[in-house]
Amino acid sequence: MNPSKPFADLVWSDDGQPYSSQFDDVYFSRESGLEETRHVFLANNQLAERWEKLRAGERFCIAETGFGTGLNFLCAWQLWDQSAPPDTHLHFVSTEKYPLSAADMQRAAVLWPELALWSEQLLAQYSDLTPGWHQFQLDQGRITLTLLIGDLLDSLPLLDASVDAWFLDGFAPAKNPDMWQPALYAQMARLSRPGATLATFTSVGAVRRGLQDAGFVMRKVKGYGRKREMLAGTFAGSASAAWQAPWYARPAAPSLPQRQALVIGAGLAGCATAFALARRGWQVTVLERHAEPAQEASGNPQGILYCKLSAHQTPLSRFVLSSYAYALRVLHELLEQDGRQWQPCGVLQLPTSDKEAQRQQALADLGWPDTLLRLVDQAEASQLAGVATPSGGLWFEGGGWVNPPSLCQALLQHPNIQLLAHHQTLSLAASEYGWQALDHEGQILASAPQVVICGAADSLRLAPSAHLPLKAIRGQVTHLPATTASQALRTVLCAEGYVSPARLGEHHVGASFRFDRLDTQPSQEETESNLGLLLQLSPALAASLQVEQLDPASLPARAALRCTTPDYLPVIGPLVDAKVFRERYAELAKDASRQPTAGAPWLAGLHINAAHGSRGLISAPLSGELVAAWICDEPLPLPRDLAEAVHPSRFLLRELIRGRGRAGQ
Ligand code: SAM
Repeated sequence: MNPSKPFADLVWSDDGQPYSSQFDDVYFSRESGLEETRHVFLANNQLAERWEKLRAGERFCIAETGFGTGLNFLCAWQLWDQSAPPDTHLHFVSTEKYPLSAADMQRAAVLWPELALWSEQLLAQYSDLTPGWHQFQLDQGRITLTLLIGDLLDSLPLLDASVDAWFLDGFAPAKNPDMWQPALYAQMARLSRPGATLATFTSVGAVRRGLQDAGFVMRKVKGYGRKREMLAGTFAGSASAAWQAPWYARPAAPSLPQRQALVIGAGLAGCATAFALARRGWQVTVLERHAEPAQEASGNPQGILYCKLSAHQTPLSRFVLSSYAYALRVLHELLEQDGRQWQPCGVLQLPTSDKEAQRQQALADLGWPDTLLRLVDQAEASQLAGVATPSGGLWFEGGGWVNPPSLCQALLQHPNIQLLAHHQTLSLAASEYGWQALDHEGQILASAPQVVICGAADSLRLAPSAHLPLKAIRGQVTHLPATTASQALRTVLCAEGYVSPARLGEHHVGASFRFDRLDTQPSQEETESNLGLLLQLSPALAASLQVEQLDPASLPARAALRCTTPDYLPVIGPLVDAKVFRERYAELAKDASRQPTAGAPWLAGLHINAAHGSRGLISAPLSGELVAAWICDEPLPLPRDLAEAVHPSRFLLRELIRGRGRAGQ
C-alpha cells in the first residue's frame, strides 16, 4: 500500500486511445477494444450461455487482473443485462495497480457511446481511488464491483472469493513480466470454483505452462482480429490442502438459501445491514424497540464524516479508508443535499499539538490524491472554513456532515425491508426454521433462518453475543443557536471535538467521552466542556456565537451511548457458541502455534454487526456489505486480514492464546 504513485500515467493518442507510459503498452486493441473484449473474455468464458441458465437467487463471480479503463467490466455488465435472468447477481472483482484518475476514466468512456448506459452509472460513483479495496453497488445492487487497488500479488492472497470465470488481462507478458508469475496462477487456482473458466488474450507458452501447472486445463483458440491465437482454460485442480484457521473459515451456507433475515436494532449498523441484504433480494424484518429508527447513538441531528487515518496503515486506518469511500458513495446515492439530510461541505482536521501537526504532515507526505486529503495552511483553512481558524490542517474535501436519522430512514425505504417498531427482542431461540426473536414474555416476535444482531452494547443482553467485550461510552452533543455571523462557517471543523455548519438554525458541538456514566441525561458539565472544545476549534467562531453570554444550563443537548471494543474496531461477522469454542480450541492456551482442524462451532445463521464507536457514519455502510457478503457467500469486500481484524471470534481467540481460556465455562 503505497499511495505515493496513485494513478495510471497515460498518453492519449490523436484518436483518443489511452497508452500506458508505466508499461509502454496499449490498454486494448486499436481497431476495436469492444469487439476484442467480447471475443477474448466474454465468448471464451462462454458467459452468455452460462448466464442464460442461472436460476433466481444465483450469483456469478468474475475476477480480473487489471481493471484499467473498466472496458471489460462494462462489456460484461452489458452482456449480463442481455442474458442473465432477473433476480440474479453478478459480482465482478478486479485488481488494479495504477487506477485511472476519475478524469481519465471519463475520457476513456467517451470511446464507447454504446456503453454509455453502463459507464454513466459507474462514473457517477467512481472517484480518484486510493490504495486499498473499494466497493461499488450498481444497478440497485444487481451488480457488485470490488476493486482491489494495489499490486495483485499483494492483494489476491487477501481475497476471499469463489471465482466462476477469470479475465486474465494485464498488458503483454513481455511488457509486464512481474505480473505473469506462478504466484498469480497459484492464487487463481486457490480462488477458483471447480470448473471455473479463464480466458486471456496472450498465447505465450510460459503462461500456458504456468496455468497448467496450477491446475488449469488449457487450450489454444482463435485470437481476436490479426492475433492468430489466444488461451482459454478450465480449472480442474483441487482445493488447497494448506491449513486454514477454522475460526475464521466460512460457515457452510446453502447454495440457494431462503432469503429471509431478521435484523435486531434500527440504528445505523442495523439499517445498513438490512439495506445490504434487501439489495441482494432478501426479505428483511428489522426489529426495533423504540417507536422510530435511530433513537440512540445514531439519533444525533448532525454527525460528521471524520476520517481519521494513520500514516502507518494500521488495520483501523485501512478499514476507515475503505469504509469512508464507500460511505460517500452511499450518501451521494441515497440522500439529498438539501441542508437537512447531508452536506458534503468538507472537513478540516486541525492539529491540537506539535505532535499532532507532525502526524498530519507524515500522513500527507504519503501523497494521497488531493481529492481525498491535503494539507492546507492557516490562511487557506480560514478561507475554506469561512471563519478564522487557529492553524492550518488536513482538508478532506469530500467529507461533511450527515443527519444520521435521515440516512437510517433512507436505507429502510427499500421495498424488501419491513420495520417492526416497539419490538424489543430479549432472547433468541433456535428452531427448526432458524431463529426466533422472543420478547420479555417469551412470545415470538418474528422468525427467520438468518439473524443479524445490531444492538450496539445492548447486544450483550442476547446470549449468543453475551461473551463479546462490548463497552458503552457516553457522549454528549450540545446544540448552539446559529447567529448571522456564525452562518459564515462553511465546513466541519474538528480537533479534539467538532463543530458543524448550521443545520436548520443550529450548530452542533461535541462530543464528550465518558466511561463513568451510562445514563443519557444531558449534563451541564459536558456542555461546558463542549464549549471549551469550540473555543479550541475557532475562537472567532465562538465569539460569533456569543458563547460567553450563553448559559450552559439552558443550552439544549443530547447524550447517547456509543459502543466500542478494547481494540476500537467494530465486531462484524458470524457468531460461534463461545463455550464450545473455548473447549474445542483449549489447546491454544498451551501452545498458540497449534493448528487445530476441528471446524468452529458456528451458530448457523447468526451474525453480529456492532461497536462502531463514534464513526458509525463512516463504517456502517460497508459493514452492512461485509455481513451480507458473509451471509450470501460472496467475495468479502475487505482483505482477509481486515475481515479477521473485525471478526467476532478474535476476542475468544485472544483470550485463549493469552492463557485465559476458561474451558468449561
Ligand atoms: N481490463 C482493462 C480494461 O478493460 O480497460 C485493460 C487492462 S490493461 C491492458 C492492464 C491493466 O493491468 C492496467 O490497468 C495495469 O495498470 C494493470 N496491472 C498491471 N500489472 C498489475 C499488477 N501487478 N497488479 C495489478 N494491476 C496491474
